[in-house]
Amino acid sequence: MDARSRMEKAQAAGLIVAGEPLAVDLADTIITSTDPATDLLPDEATCRLWWGLQQDRLPDEAATPTLAVTVELRSAVRELLDAQVAVTVPDPAAVAYVNEVAARVSATRRLEHTRSGWTTVTAHHATANRRYDIALGAVTDSLMDLLTGPAHDRLRRCQNPVCSMLFVASDARRRFCTQNICANRTRVARHYQRHHRG
Ligand SMILES: [Zn+2]
Repeated sequence: MDARSRMEKAQAAGLIVAGEPLAVDLADTIITSTDPATDLLPDEATCRLWWGLQQDRLPDEAATPTLAVTVELRSAVRELLDAQVAVTVPDPAAVAYVNEVAARVSATRRLEHTRSGWTTVTAHHATANRRYDIALGAVTDSLMDLLTGPAHDRLRRCQNPVCSMLFVASDARRRFCTQNICANRTRVARHYQRHHRG
């Protein structure tokens, strides 16, 4: 799925951000700037829909996690990403939780020879009846790749003060999570101030 259609489908389901790295997309399923926080995954159906939007980024063997385990991992991921943006020390319990989830999955590579040459196929393994751990493991992989990879210092929080969405800025000038929601809202506010002042 390309980023644009992933975003359109996600927004149709009431989400705001999609198409960021998998871990960031999961962290962005909660609005932490409202009091109380607004959970964009309020029920199992929306949770399944969210995983469905990510299906092409998950190993074939992955089953869909329940809302409870999804939200539990999300809270650890969000903690680590928020700490990364704020340049604060992350909660060691969140780090431990991410590592515990990651350890539930193993991957093996198999060599195959095809008419066009050599290729490898990666198989993912989890405990029987827990194939959803493979989906959760894809999130922890994404998180580890982001925090240790070249984009680790491009993780940002949306500049809209009422928005808490995180994104990876591939363009250094990018300030908002979404063009159609946050960037426009600010433009609209600025426009209003210019034309209705006094
Ligand atoms: Zn935003």
